[in-house]
Amino acid sequence: MAEQKRDYYEVLGVAKTADDAEIKKAYRTLAKKYHPDANPGDKDAEAKFKEASEAYGVLSDPEKRKQYDQYGFAAFSDGAGGFGGFDFTNTQDLGSMFGDIFGDLFGGGFGGFGGFGRSSRSANGNSPARGANLRTEVRITFDEMVKGCTKNITVNLKEECETCHGTGAKPGTSKETCQKCGGKGQVAMTQRTMFGMMQSVQPCPDCNGTGTIIREKCPSCRGSGYKTERKTLSVTIPAGIETGQAVRLFGKGEPGVNGGQRGDLLVEIIVGGSNRFERDGMDVYTEEKIPFTIAALGGPIVVKTVDGQVEYTVKAGTQTGTKVRLRGKGIPNVRNANERGDHYLILTVETPTVLNRKQKAALREFAKTMGENPSGND
Ligand SMILES: [Zn+2]
Ligand SMILES: [Zn+2]
Repeated sequence: MAEQKRDYYEVLGVAKTADDAEIKKAYRTLAKKYHPDANPGDKDAEAKFKEASEAYGVLSDPEKRKQYDQYGFAAFSDGAGGFGGFDFTNTQDLGSMFGDIFGDLFGGGFGGFGGFGRSSRSANGNSPARGANLRTEVRITFDEMVKGCTKNITVNLKEECETCHGTGAKPGTSKETCQKCGGKGQVAMTQRTMFGMMQSVQPCPDCNGTGTIIREKCPSCRGSGYKTERKTLSVTIPAGIETGQAVRLFGKGEPGVNGGQRGDLLVEIIVGGSNRFERDGMDVYTEEKIPFTIAALGGPIVVKTVDGQVEYTVKAGTQTGTKVRLRGKGIPNVRNANERGDHYLILTVETPTVLNRKQKAALREFAKTMGENPSGND
């Protein structure tokens, strides 16, 4: 079980200083090469594919990468020798990994991770691949959570380069179809083995699996076909959202490849606390102090709910610890704003601590009628 793990950078074959693009590219190449669909029944390829996926899962995440750089594998050890509870069996698991983190708020499932799974499966360098999902986080206050709100966020979005219209080729020139692979991005290799001639499919070495070759790179984007722009986006956050849930902005992720659709931007929400309200799902709880006369005789009190002040009539003979439900005064259901939780008042009877002579006399008079004999003559 205690098998030796290879360093993640070594697995991907990149330097410790590699940037996100290099890491992504390295993973993509490996994923194509070792994808189970391209290597049916090959246990070694499957192991390599898992290893690469695991390495990419960590190194592509700035927070995880930082932890890994600092603590190595120990950063993710869960004591069971596994990798933080994630089991990568195929590229789709990368999707579910992020799905777990965000919880999928608006249904439809997690839209797949990047385009890697699909592009590697389709075995064609020219086929459209969906862009990767991006994520960010936004903090909102408790009050904003109750009412729902709109927040502006600023993100770096990759946009098609205007100079080359995304081709990456210098204006006046164009991308050429790779001659070695005929634009497929993959080449079939025939090898003589002890079982006879075996054919395997490999990413094309000339075009790195893209199927095209840029002879003269666009000077504006240096051949990438993209430019990064800072954009302000408006995020509509539904009432009732909880910390850790995410709002999905469709098509605001990384651009797709070969005409594939853009990925999405997942905006994770962090909800601030409240001094007054304690939240439990859609319900809220508050502690309300009531005078002992109101507790004994009954009467109105004013309580603050998430909607503002309301009057509640305490029943005569109320004890400390009594729980009262204000129906429908809780937090809206994040999926259906017409549905509301409840507000529970926990009532505490307050005993007066300072009494004047007249008040004491009145209480003694009252005690006499009850057959009680309190102390404190003055
Ligand atoms: Zn360009
Ligand atoms: Zn090629």
